[in-house]
Amino acid sequence: MFYNSTRNSSVKVSSAEAITQGISAEGGLFVPESIPELSLDEIKAVGEMKYADRAAYVFSKYLTDFTEAEIHYCTDNAYSTKNFETESISELAHLFDGTYMLELWHGPTCAFKDMALQILPYFLTTSAKKINLDKKIVILVATSGDTGKAALEGFKDVEGTSIMVFYPEDGVSPMQKRQMKTQEGANVGVCAIKGNFDDCQNGVKAIFTNDEVKKALDENGMMFSSANSINWGRLVPQVVYYVSAYAELVKDGEINLGDKINIVVPTGNFGNILAAYYAKHMGVPVNKLICASNINNVLTDFINTGVYDRNRQFYATVSPSMDILISSNLERLLYLMTGRNDAQIREWFGKLASEGRYEVTADVKNKLHEEFCAGFCNDDETKATIHAIYEKYGYTCDTHTAVAVKVYNDYKEATGDTTKTVIASTASPYKFSAAVLEALEGKTSDIDEYDKVDRIAELSKLDIPAALADLRNKPERFNDVIDKSEQKEYVLGKLGI
Ligand SMILES: *Cc1c(COP(=O)(O)O)cnc(C)c1O
Repeated sequence: MFYNSTRNSSVKVSSAEAITQGISAEGGLFVPESIPELSLDEIKAVGEMKYADRAAYVFSKYLTDFTEAEIHYCTDNAYSTKNFETESISELAHLFDGTYMLELWHGPTCAFKDMALQILPYFLTTSAKKINLDKKIVILVATSGDTGKAALEGFKDVEGTSIMVFYPEDGVSPMQKRQMKTQEGANVGVCAIKGNFDDCQNGVKAIFTNDEVKKALDENGMMFSSANSINWGRLVPQVVYYVSAYAELVKDGEINLGDKINIVVPTGNFGNILAAYYAKHMGVPVNKLICASNINNVLTDFINTGVYDRNRQFYATVSPSMDILISSNLERLLYLMTGRNDAQIREWFGKLASEGRYEVTADVKNKLHEEFCAGFCNDDETKATIHAIYEKYGYTCDTHTAVAVKVYNDYKEATGDTTKTVIASTASPYKFSAAVLEALEGKTSDIDEYDKVDRIAELSKLDIPAALADLRNKPERFNDVIDKSEQKEYVLGKLGI
């Protein structure tokens, strides 16, 4: 299996090269040249395996330049109870009639990002070895809160790497900020940007593709790579849990092999839902992919109208990991939907950069409508949903997952569709304790962050994740705040160049 760039189809690299480079030199994203297929029998067989082996099975279809032993080295180290709180790694909670919560937050940083970022360092160091790379890999990350911490945990003290994370100063939850500021490890750095997530991500992308900077790194024996979902090594682990969830439902007798399911994903950068799209096209029977947004609803409008327009107000919401107006991974979807038309992608994404807007063709609009539904909700509706499902089912979910539940309820009401449905549950409610507690109790409270956590534990009966409980006593190590225009100099300065 080789990988092409969305902005130049003639680029052709191995998975090891795609993973180490992160992004293609001309700014495109790497995509596998075809989507490998899984038969229903294979999917059924996957259900009999433990999670690490399910992952290895899926990876063997994509990472064909890795040996079986290399793949297992990665999966066995990443997906074990050393790093995850549950044996099954991802948990499928049966919520209500025909609706299942795919809990992806039992890893070390309590968000679904761990599913990919626990394994990415193994992919990356294995890939570097395979292609005889003798450079230090510098990971740059833009984060809306969860990726940053998950990447820091994944890469801390990994030999041959260093990692630098940028987050929007006022765009993450207090718990997310504490998690990053207190990060341990000798090869890590964290810095706040005066701006929003898009500013952080644009800055990182600009540094990646700056030839002068690349040259300077090269001369100093270093190279950049990415831990954002622009890196294929971030996406492929996310395909696994959709295959796994389907296999699990079959195994549990909740569905028959071949029955279709809906998948609902609370979406920001479009990585997680794109992974669901790949799972579908590999052969997992899926009816609709439902894309749920908060009031930063650029994707809802895009899926409904075919016009992507980021020229709009940016809102800080109670689901900050979805406060994004430029969803990077849409580029991969559109590349596939245009029949791998790199010229078309260059045109649209050129327009996005210069005018902030593009409109897809009627053919692509039709394809979008065939595969996706989209909706959004505001903060009050998010909190009301947390309250409602707590009251009804005694289940406590976080603010991002609640957006998905609300959008799904709206979808169900509008369509009458009774297809069984998996909702991606993307974070522990403890990470967004202020909004979650307010939702549960129906009023704001001025007790401190950690007392809120304790109160949620009383109400939800969920164990407080050890990693969050520990934060209270950890010293803060990183307090830098810079202007977005200073990002490049900051990075070079930290690298001593
Ligand atoms: C990152 C994140 C999302 C959005 O996922 P994308 O892959 O960026 O679409 C949703 N919920 C939580 C909790 C997240 O951390």
